[in-house]
Amino acid sequence: MKWSKSHIYTMKEAPSDAEIISHKLLIRGGFMKKLAPGIFTYGNLGLRAIRKFENIIRDELNKRNCLEVLMPMVHPRELWEETGRWNEMGDGLLKFQNRNKHWFCLGATHEEAITDYVRNDLKSYRDLPKNIYQIQTKYRDEIRPRFGLMRGREFIMKDAYSFDADQAGALKAYDSMYDAYKAIFDRLNLNYRIVQADAGNIGGSQTHEFQLLADAGEDALLVSDTTDFAANVEVCPAIDAEPHVSKETELKPLEKFATPGAKTIADLEKLTGIAAKELVKTLYFSGNEGFDPKDKSLKAFAVLLRGSDEVNPVKVKNMLGMTNPPLMLTDDEVKEVTGASPGSCGPVGLHIPVYMDNGVEGLKNFIVGANEDGFHLKNVNHGRDFNITKIGDLRMAKAGDKDPQSGGRLKSYRGIEVGHVFYLGKKYSQKMGATFLDQQGKVQPFEMGCYGIGVTRTVQAAIEQSHDADGIIWPKSIAPFHVHMCVLDPKDAQIMAKADEFYNQLNAQGIEVLMDDRDERPGVKFKDADLLGMPVRMVLGKRGLDNNEIEVVERKTKEMKKVHPDNLMSELK
Ligand code: ATP
Ligand code: MG
Ligand code: MG
Ligand code: MG
Repeated sequence: MKWSKSHIYTMKEAPSDAEIISHKLLIRGGFMKKLAPGIFTYGNLGLRAIRKFENIIRDELNKRNCLEVLMPMVHPRELWEETGRWNEMGDGLLKFQNRNKHWFCLGATHEEAITDYVRNDLKSYRDLPKNIYQIQTKYRDEIRPRFGLMRGREFIMKDAYSFDADQAGALKAYDSMYDAYKAIFDRLNLNYRIVQADAGNIGGSQTHEFQLLADAGEDALLVSDTTDFAANVEVCPAIDAEPHVSKETELKPLEKFATPGAKTIADLEKLTGIAAKELVKTLYFSGNEGFDPKDKSLKAFAVLLRGSDEVNPVKVKNMLGMTNPPLMLTDDEVKEVTGASPGSCGPVGLHIPVYMDNGVEGLKNFIVGANEDGFHLKNVNHGRDFNITKIGDLRMAKAGDKDPQSGGRLKSYRGIEVGHVFYLGKKYSQKMGATFLDQQGKVQPFEMGCYGIGVTRTVQAAIEQSHDADGIIWPKSIAPFHVHMCVLDPKDAQIMAKADEFYNQLNAQGIEVLMDDRDERPGVKFKDADLLGMPVRMVLGKRGLDNNEIEVVERKTKEMKKVHPDNLMSELK
């Protein structure tokens, strides 16, 4: 592209609402322009970087058999009512009526839309697994849009959704997306960490965030200095928060699920051979940890509480140093075991975060038992049926604390959440009646996962991590152009002819060139080249060409080489 035919308008100063460097540089370079708070036009150069990143995503996902579609941005109210999220999402969901007084919202995320899309197509286990994605504009009515594309209201997201016949399949899909995300962010050559995360109102139990490290990041992270352990601080309580239990407390086995022979915590201790303190740890979980379903002896217990939006398996996992987060029950499973309706408070599940946050009073009805039929106490009440007196002094972990896995030390970082993978289970498929026939001909809801990447946020985050005092330093893989050619004497027909020759040759080789053919002083051109940040600057001037020299400057290191015109191609490849 030639500057003279482009729409590039750079600025010396950024507007005052641009607080962080990446936002300032994107505005100053004319990569984007604000239309309203959190709503931007992507200029031609900005869009080129965005498209390149999108294509990296496509490449890695298509390789893994993910299928691209494009879903609507406008969704009918009825769809979101099926899952209860029309109300649950609150004001983040922008709602409006059309001329017929029908309610709609702008798509903030697409679990409902995709589940509707597939529910009549995927009839049999033979149709599974499927992984479908889109790269699309989302709208979230963020309270405080800021930092440009980092927290926009309208922004581009890649969102993928997996459908599997069983949990093992869904977790395999999760792993495959996790790998895809690693490949994608590796191709940007940026410094990122994969951290355990909170599932928020999407739901689900296993979830990781991909976080680019940057001081301007809104998330606080804790990363071990000796192991792979890394977590968003939201799900990382300090591990010295030990639970305690009073052994004498009586357990009252209720109704048909009584645990044989266990009337007190001490009984359970005897039965299981697990120390009371440890027992209480395991008591908090539905037993996918420390309990081998094939082993009929009683090894672990579950405590499932009714009614909490705060259920956070990852928090529990980190507190107790478990390898995997415990799984949450769906509403239907809860009904099945407790006979109770989960009501408006969300699923029965692990109540520990409420307990931790609000103290012992947070504990109400739960089930105690093993992951085995006939090994459950139903409707157990804290205080009445047994006592857990104290969970220690619970506090969130901080830098210098022990890493829950190895005893190494935690270091703190700031991060920008650029990607998020979730294992969802049956949360959406159950509510939306999205089922298939399994091998035995039985109707089953899909096991799902969802996977997001903030496309526009990532492009800006890349700059937050890669810039210097003069401007942007684009990672090569998403640079809008590879080469920024400064023609110093554009009015000289001979020079211009030479410049065109190189320009055509480079483009023919797939090396994308932005040619600055403006009638401007060299200083102005160099300043703009530094600001716009293409990986290589190439300077064509009369004096240099007379000496058979072309100046080639690497943007990142500012290292300059004088290259003979014959060697230019091989130099720039
Ligand atoms: P955040 O915690 O920053 O609000 P989120 O957890 O609400 O993000 P997800 O629902 O996980 O976001 O969406 C997937 C991805 O979309 C995020 O990892 C992030 O990269 C991107 N994203 C979310 N909200 C925004 C936004 N307002 N502007 C730009 N990108 C966003
Ligand atoms: Mg959010
Ligand atoms: Mg988040
Ligand atoms: Mg998220």
